[in-house]
Amino acid sequence: MNKIPLVDLKAQHALLHSEIEQAISRVIQNTNFIQGKEVKDFEQAFAAFLGEGVYCSTCGNGTDALILALSALGIGKGDEVITTPHTFIATVEAICFVGAKPVFVDISDETMLLDPQLIEMAITPKTKAILPVHLYGQPCDMEAIMQIARKRNLVVIEDSAQAHGASWKGKKVGTWGDASCFSFFPGKNLGAYGDAGCVTSCNEEIAQKAKMLANHGRVDKYEHLIPGVNSRLDTIQAAVLNVKLKHLDEWTRNRQRLAKRYMDAFQGSEAKVQTIAEEATSVWHLFVLRHPEREQILRALKEKEIYGGIHYPIALHLQPALSYLGYEKGSFPIAEKAADEVFSLPLYPELSFEQQDKIIDAVQEFLSQLV
Ligand SMILES: *Cc1c(COP(=O)(O)O)cnc(C)c1O
Repeated sequence: MNKIPLVDLKAQHALLHSEIEQAISRVIQNTNFIQGKEVKDFEQAFAAFLGEGVYCSTCGNGTDALILALSALGIGKGDEVITTPHTFIATVEAICFVGAKPVFVDISDETMLLDPQLIEMAITPKTKAILPVHLYGQPCDMEAIMQIARKRNLVVIEDSAQAHGASWKGKKVGTWGDASCFSFFPGKNLGAYGDAGCVTSCNEEIAQKAKMLANHGRVDKYEHLIPGVNSRLDTIQAAVLNVKLKHLDEWTRNRQRLAKRYMDAFQGSEAKVQTIAEEATSVWHLFVLRHPEREQILRALKEKEIYGGIHYPIALHLQPALSYLGYEKGSFPIAEKAADEVFSLPLYPELSFEQQDKIIDAVQEFLSQLV
């Protein structure tokens, strides 16, 4: 097998299959499929992974986590939420879903993350929240963002769906904002065997409220304090996540080692690498390069059975689903240029240096033909 996929979930399962199958089989034998002990165990373990004084409330997926966090913080109709146009659509769908209005600001050309310097200009009397996204595993400048939020009396919700364990100045994402959202979609750095997600917060009340909203607004079996939804984490998924969380730091170190090799290979080449801020520790969910001829590069890689990706090809303000917001082409030129140029190379903890060298050679061969 010489194919190199963008993400190889089979390689990871092969290493853990007996432990995971036992964990799943225990849940099946106990038949505690909903809110079993494994769910609480995972909430405690993931909170401890992020740091001291953190609370974790699990839910059905990362998109629900965003919706639950926004709802728990009282964001809804008539409110504006400032966010980035260069992210997965779920970030913005959640804002729309609670009835609020997404307000975009452009990204930094170097990091491709929400540019903190542009936030204040977008604040209006209706602005209630800032929703930064730690895209590609790289943390936003949370110090700058929290400073603006405190000064202007806004809440901050972090979208940490791609950044389990990433940190800004040594403090992990998921512990900076008033609330933070994680996804455990199978392809994320910590992935379940189906959909899964959580809200984290250092404020116990907010975490409790998100938890309550995710479970029919329940305080106990028959008493419902607020109207909620059903977005609980399955016990089977929690059992899988408990096994996998123990390996996350090791997997992250592998990603970082591979990312450094990619960086060394492409620094100064025709394909532009991301700039990682000195204060940032990225967990490299994706390794992203930029080149105007990215379609050609991806095609050349595919011919060699190397499969890249594009995250993401259309800036969100230009998506048909969001045309009602009234933005047009040219509204956010840096994000639009990024959307036209970015492409992702295969990166996962089990990728071997040999496989990686093959990928690097293939990209460099293409680039050398261009000049
Ligand atoms: C994956 C992802 C989400 C949504 O998570 P799901 O679990 O797939 O619902 C939200 N935001 C970002 C940035 C993501 O990458």
